[in-house]
Amino acid sequence: MRAVLHLFAVMSGLKVNFHKSELVGININQSWVQEAAAVLNCRIGSLPMLYLGLPVGGDPRRLHFWNPVVNCIKSRLSRWKSKHLSFGGRLVLLKSILTSLPVYALSFFKAPSGIIASIESLLIRFFWGGCEVNRKIAWIDWEAICLAKEVGGLGVRRLREFNLALLGKWCWRMVVDREGMWYRVLTARYGGVGGRFQSCGKHGSVWWKDISCICDGNSSVLGSWFSDNLQLRVGNGVTTLFWLDRWVCDVPLCEKFRRLYELSDNKLATVAQMFHWGWDVGGEAWKWRRRLWVWEEELLEECRLFLLTVTLQVDYADAWKWTPDTAKGYTASGAYRLLTDTTQINDQIPTKLLWRKDVPLKVSVFAWRLFHNRLPSKLNLFRRGIILPEARNCVSGCGCHESESHLFLSCAFFGHLWQLVRNWLCVHSADPSHILDHFIQFGSSTGYGKSRCSFMHLIWYATTWVIWKERNARIFRDTQSSHLQLLENVQHLSFWWFKANVVSFHYSFYNWCQNPLLCAGIG
Ligand SMILES: [Zn+2]
Repeated sequence: MRAVLHLFAVMSGLKVNFHKSELVGININQSWVQEAAAVLNCRIGSLPMLYLGLPVGGDPRRLHFWNPVVNCIKSRLSRWKSKHLSFGGRLVLLKSILTSLPVYALSFFKAPSGIIASIESLLIRFFWGGCEVNRKIAWIDWEAICLAKEVGGLGVRRLREFNLALLGKWCWRMVVDREGMWYRVLTARYGGVGGRFQSCGKHGSVWWKDISCICDGNSSVLGSWFSDNLQLRVGNGVTTLFWLDRWVCDVPLCEKFRRLYELSDNKLATVAQMFHWGWDVGGEAWKWRRRLWVWEEELLEECRLFLLTVTLQVDYADAWKWTPDTAKGYTASGAYRLLTDTTQINDQIPTKLLWRKDVPLKVSVFAWRLFHNRLPSKLNLFRRGIILPEARNCVSGCGCHESESHLFLSCAFFGHLWQLVRNWLCVHSADPSHILDHFIQFGSSTGYGKSRCSFMHLIWYATTWVIWKERNARIFRDTQSSHLQLLENVQHLSFWWFKANVVSFHYSFYNWCQNPLLCAGIG
């Protein structure tokens, strides 16, 4: 064995480090393994083990198989201490790291729904600021958070669909790379009929079964999304299987004409072969196990109708097409979009205006929650039974209940800030009582045009953010600012946000306070 490994090292240039290696015996008596390990001077390992970061030899359908992945996520969560991060920060971490951590495992194994659920619940708790033991309120359900930004979500990945999209890549490769060595090895090992999957019964590989389920579309709730979007363009017919591939009609001929397929003597013939033998009446392509009955002859006649229009193009190879994207073919991201099709969702919130690069992400997330009425305003807390009825009054002492529209628009104290902001900008507009209307109305109050709207929305964000900060300061820190201080905060915030994103900006803060529209280039 040592000699084989040595030869391998000489030929490939990859040297084996015996100290770092483990010897794993499969169906071998333990004493032999011990002896061999002593000779090779390496440790003894056992299944399941990690190979190239992936667990090998375990059963991915069992929950404990996924423990390393879940533990890894847990350790990241406790380390980051979600409470020290803003919503924006948590969102970024959630998207960039947490959803990419399990990707390696998810691109190979189909995760059981229990695992997906427990990973998602970790993510949810992290996002809403709790940790493993300490649960906080999830103000918006995870489904909504996982929607794409264009349709009103936060664009966090859905793990189950992402898992399927990643695994679909294997199916795609198996279709387009049938000549590949790896494919031939896999079909030889796990069973495949002429380039098609065949799961090998109860004792076959779980991995192979999962992949073939996705390929065939059975057993999945999402149906045959993979095969439905796969199309074959027949060229010379050399690699297309006459009976088994879907090529002349929307199902394979073996399904459309099951009887004929069962009687056929050349079940694995390619289209090219069948064409060569001749599939006209009396052609040699039709080889049967016995003579056909009259009604079977009629079936054959029907089958032949499909073949009438077929002409093979000798110069072109057969090509598989992924119908959603015929140019690039299958991509995991494209398939993910397909699986999470959101064209039906109609969200009234103008997401193009909502997500902007020139305000901090935490402010955009804040506005997103504001538009969905999902901020922890006192009325919302009361509705969820978290605070008592007497505690739901507005913190300014105006005597009203603190709802979102009260706090941000109609409150005698906080609402007055809008008037000051308008005076500063020298604009006039009404005050709609609905938050979204207010946002849209305010955006157009200096006239129409993209840059005007964008500027006004920036101010709107700054104003609502300042109100929210002031409200929290009054509740949690017992400090108060006057109207003028709040206005100055709005001016400050908007000044820095604007300045940070406009390279040619050269005005001072003083200029900004004097004539903001001029500084913004819309005066
Ligand atoms: Zn109030």
